[in-house]
Amino acid sequence: MKLLRDKVMAEGIVLGDNVLKVDSFLNHQMDPVLMREVGGEFARRFAEEGVTKVLTIESSGIAPAIMTSLELGVPMIFARKHKSLTLRDDILVEKVYSFTKQETNEITVSKKFLHPEDRVLIIDDFLANGEAAFGLARIVEQVGASVVGIGIVIEKSFQPGASRLQEAGYRVDSLVRIASLENGAVSFVEEL
Ligand code: 5GP
Repeated sequence: MKLLRDKVMAEGIVLGDNVLKVDSFLNHQMDPVLMREVGGEFARRFAEEGVTKVLTIESSGIAPAIMTSLELGVPMIFARKHKSLTLRDDILVEKVYSFTKQETNEITVSKKFLHPEDRVLIIDDFLANGEAAFGLARIVEQVGASVVGIGIVIEKSFQPGASRLQEAGYRVDSLVRIASLENGAVSFVEEL
Protein backbone atom coordinates (compact mmCIF):
# COMPACT_ATOMS: atom_id res chain seq x y z
CA MET A 1 0.00 0.00 0.00
CA LYS A 2 1.87 3.01 -1.34
CA LEU A 3 0.32 5.62 0.96
CA LEU A 4 1.42 3.66 4.01
CA ARG A 5 4.90 3.00 2.65
CA ASP A 6 5.36 6.71 2.04
CA LYS A 7 4.20 7.48 5.57
CA VAL A 8 6.62 4.92 7.06
CA MET A 9 9.47 6.40 5.01
CA ALA A 10 8.62 9.96 5.99
CA GLU A 11 7.83 9.48 9.69
CA GLY A 12 9.08 6.07 10.87
CA ILE A 13 11.90 6.11 13.41
CA VAL A 14 14.17 3.06 13.57
CA LEU A 15 15.13 1.93 17.08
CA GLY A 16 17.96 -0.59 17.09
CA ASP A 17 17.88 -3.18 14.30
CA ASN A 18 14.39 -4.50 14.85
CA VAL A 19 11.94 -1.93 16.21
CA LEU A 20 10.13 0.71 14.19
CA LYS A 21 8.50 3.60 15.99
CA VAL A 22 5.49 5.09 14.23
CA ASP A 23 4.02 7.13 17.04
CA SER A 24 3.08 10.05 14.77
CA PHE A 25 0.35 8.12 12.93
CA LEU A 26 -0.35 4.73 14.55
CA ASN A 27 1.08 4.11 18.02
CA HIS A 28 0.35 7.35 19.85
CA GLN A 29 -0.96 10.14 17.65
CA MET A 30 -3.21 8.52 15.05
CA ASP A 31 -3.89 9.65 11.49
CA PRO A 32 -7.62 9.11 10.92
CA VAL A 33 -7.50 9.63 7.15
CA LEU A 34 -4.72 7.07 6.80
CA MET A 35 -6.57 4.68 9.15
CA ARG A 36 -9.69 5.00 6.98
CA GLU A 37 -7.62 4.03 3.93
CA VAL A 38 -6.09 1.12 5.85
CA GLY A 39 -9.57 -0.09 6.85
CA GLY A 40 -10.79 0.20 3.26
CA GLU A 41 -7.83 -1.82 1.99
CA PHE A 42 -8.34 -4.65 4.51
CA ALA A 43 -12.07 -4.68 3.75
CA ARG A 44 -11.34 -5.03 0.01
CA ARG A 45 -8.81 -7.80 0.56
CA PHE A 46 -11.13 -9.84 2.77
CA ALA A 47 -14.41 -8.93 1.04
CA GLU A 48 -15.11 -12.49 -0.12
CA GLU A 49 -14.51 -14.14 3.24
CA GLY A 50 -17.90 -13.64 4.89
CA VAL A 51 -16.33 -11.91 7.90
CA THR A 52 -18.73 -11.58 10.87
CA LYS A 53 -16.35 -10.04 13.47
CA VAL A 54 -13.05 -8.16 13.46
CA LEU A 55 -10.76 -8.96 16.42
CA THR A 56 -7.69 -7.04 17.57
CA ILE A 57 -5.71 -6.37 20.74
CA GLU A 58 -5.58 -3.10 22.64
CA SER A 59 -4.42 -0.48 22.09
CA SER A 60 -2.73 0.18 18.74
CA GLY A 61 -4.76 -2.42 16.85
CA ILE A 62 -8.00 -0.63 17.64
CA ALA A 63 -7.79 2.15 15.03
CA PRO A 64 -7.11 -0.05 11.97
CA ALA A 65 -9.58 -2.65 13.28
CA ILE A 66 -12.48 -0.25 13.82
CA MET A 67 -11.99 1.25 10.35
CA THR A 68 -11.97 -2.25 8.83
CA SER A 69 -15.09 -3.28 10.72
CA LEU A 70 -16.85 -0.07 9.69
CA GLU A 71 -16.13 -0.84 6.03
CA LEU A 72 -17.22 -4.48 6.41
CA GLY A 73 -20.31 -3.55 8.43
CA VAL A 74 -19.53 -5.94 11.30
CA PRO A 75 -18.66 -5.45 15.01
CA MET A 76 -15.08 -5.05 16.20
CA ILE A 77 -13.82 -6.63 19.43
CA PHE A 78 -10.53 -5.78 21.12
CA ALA A 79 -8.87 -8.24 23.45
CA ARG A 80 -7.96 -6.66 26.76
CA LYS A 81 -4.46 -6.94 28.15
CA HIS A 82 -5.48 -6.54 31.77
CA LYS A 83 -7.49 -8.99 33.75
CA SER A 84 -11.10 -8.10 34.20
CA LEU A 85 -12.41 -8.09 37.74
CA THR A 86 -15.61 -9.82 36.67
CA LEU A 87 -16.21 -13.57 36.73
CA ARG A 88 -13.41 -15.64 35.16
CA ASP A 89 -16.04 -18.08 33.87
CA ASP A 90 -17.28 -15.51 31.42
CA ILE A 91 -13.98 -14.84 29.67
CA LEU A 92 -11.66 -16.48 27.19
CA VAL A 93 -8.01 -16.17 28.28
CA GLU A 94 -4.70 -16.75 26.46
CA LYS A 95 -1.10 -16.01 27.36
CA VAL A 96 0.81 -13.77 24.95
CA TYR A 97 4.49 -12.88 25.11
CA SER A 98 4.84 -9.19 24.31
CA PHE A 99 7.59 -8.32 21.83
CA THR A 100 7.85 -4.70 22.91
CA LYS A 101 7.44 -5.18 26.69
CA GLN A 102 9.32 -8.52 26.85
CA GLU A 103 6.88 -10.00 29.33
CA THR A 104 4.00 -12.46 29.19
CA ASN A 105 0.51 -11.01 29.52
CA GLU A 106 -2.87 -12.62 29.69
CA ILE A 107 -5.25 -11.35 27.06
CA THR A 108 -8.99 -11.72 27.54
CA VAL A 109 -12.19 -11.54 25.52
CA SER A 110 -15.69 -11.92 26.92
CA LYS A 111 -17.43 -15.13 25.84
CA LYS A 112 -20.48 -12.99 25.08
CA PHE A 113 -18.97 -11.64 21.88
CA LEU A 114 -17.62 -14.72 20.07
CA HIS A 115 -19.72 -17.67 18.89
CA PRO A 116 -18.93 -20.92 17.06
CA GLU A 117 -20.49 -19.66 13.80
CA ASP A 118 -18.32 -16.50 13.71
CA ARG A 119 -15.86 -15.91 10.86
CA VAL A 120 -13.21 -13.71 12.40
CA LEU A 121 -10.71 -11.39 10.76
CA ILE A 122 -7.76 -10.65 13.07
CA ILE A 123 -6.14 -7.22 12.65
CA ASP A 124 -2.97 -5.91 14.31
CA ASP A 125 -0.63 -2.96 13.89
CA PHE A 126 2.68 -4.86 13.72
CA LEU A 127 3.79 -8.42 13.09
CA ALA A 128 7.12 -9.52 14.59
CA ASN A 129 7.22 -13.08 15.98
CA GLY A 130 3.50 -13.68 15.65
CA GLU A 131 2.78 -14.11 19.35
CA ALA A 132 -0.10 -11.61 19.47
CA ALA A 133 -1.74 -13.02 16.33
CA PHE A 134 -1.39 -16.62 17.56
CA GLY A 135 -2.90 -15.63 20.91
CA LEU A 136 -5.88 -13.99 19.21
CA ALA A 137 -6.32 -17.01 16.91
CA ARG A 138 -6.32 -19.36 19.93
CA ILE A 139 -9.05 -17.23 21.53
CA VAL A 140 -11.19 -17.56 18.37
CA GLU A 141 -10.55 -21.30 18.21
CA GLN A 142 -11.40 -21.81 21.91
CA VAL A 143 -15.04 -21.14 21.04
CA GLY A 144 -14.94 -23.17 17.82
CA ALA A 145 -15.14 -20.10 15.55
CA SER A 146 -13.03 -19.70 12.37
CA VAL A 147 -10.10 -17.40 11.67
CA VAL A 148 -10.55 -16.25 8.07
CA GLY A 149 -7.29 -14.33 7.99
CA ILE A 150 -4.84 -12.03 9.68
CA GLY A 151 -4.49 -8.44 8.45
CA ILE A 152 -1.33 -6.63 9.49
CA VAL A 153 -0.57 -2.95 8.98
CA ILE A 154 3.23 -3.29 9.16
CA GLU A 155 4.92 -6.68 8.83
CA LYS A 156 8.59 -6.99 9.71
CA SER A 157 9.34 -9.76 7.27
CA PHE A 158 12.84 -10.35 8.64
CA GLN A 159 11.22 -11.69 11.81
CA PRO A 160 9.50 -15.09 11.78
CA GLY A 161 5.85 -14.18 12.54
CA ALA A 162 4.46 -14.23 8.98
CA SER A 163 6.04 -17.55 8.04
CA ARG A 164 5.08 -19.15 11.37
CA LEU A 165 1.45 -18.10 10.90
CA GLN A 166 1.38 -19.23 7.24
CA GLU A 167 2.92 -22.58 8.17
CA ALA A 168 0.12 -22.96 10.73
CA GLY A 169 -2.36 -22.50 7.87
CA TYR A 170 -3.44 -18.89 8.36
CA ARG A 171 -3.82 -16.37 5.54
CA VAL A 172 -1.63 -13.36 6.35
CA ASP A 173 -2.17 -10.10 4.45
CA SER A 174 0.19 -7.26 5.30
CA LEU A 175 -0.15 -3.74 3.91
CA VAL A 176 3.57 -3.02 4.05
CA ARG A 177 6.37 -5.53 4.44
CA ILE A 178 9.72 -4.45 5.83
CA ALA A 179 12.78 -6.40 4.71
CA SER A 180 15.26 -4.76 7.06
CA LEU A 181 15.78 -2.02 9.62
CA GLU A 182 19.56 -2.38 9.65
CA ASN A 183 21.77 0.69 10.02
CA GLY A 184 18.82 2.87 10.93
CA ALA A 185 17.24 2.57 7.46
CA VAL A 186 13.90 1.10 6.44
CA SER A 187 13.96 -1.13 3.37
CA PHE A 188 10.84 -2.77 2.00
CA VAL A 189 10.24 -6.22 0.54
CA GLU A 190 9.91 -5.80 -3.23
CA GLU A 191 6.27 -6.31 -4.17
CA LEU A 192 5.72 -8.31 -7.37
P1 5GP B 1 4.51 -10.23 17.80
O1 5GP B 1 3.42 -10.62 18.74
O2 5GP B 1 4.18 -10.53 16.35
O3 5GP B 1 5.85 -10.77 18.20
O4 5GP B 1 4.65 -8.66 17.91
C1 5GP B 1 3.58 -7.86 17.50
C2 5GP B 1 3.13 -6.95 18.61
O5 5GP B 1 4.24 -6.30 19.22
C3 5GP B 1 2.24 -5.87 18.03
O6 5GP B 1 0.97 -5.97 18.64
C4 5GP B 1 2.92 -4.57 18.38
O7 5GP B 1 2.18 -3.91 19.38
C5 5GP B 1 4.26 -4.92 18.96
N1 5GP B 1 5.40 -4.67 18.03
C6 5GP B 1 6.23 -5.60 17.49
N2 5GP B 1 7.19 -5.03 16.78
C7 5GP B 1 6.98 -3.70 16.83
C8 5GP B 1 7.67 -2.58 16.27
O8 5GP B 1 8.69 -2.66 15.57
N3 5GP B 1 7.15 -1.35 16.55
C9 5GP B 1 6.03 -1.19 17.31
N4 5GP B 1 5.60 0.06 17.51
N5 5GP B 1 5.36 -2.23 17.87
C10 5GP B 1 5.83 -3.47 17.63
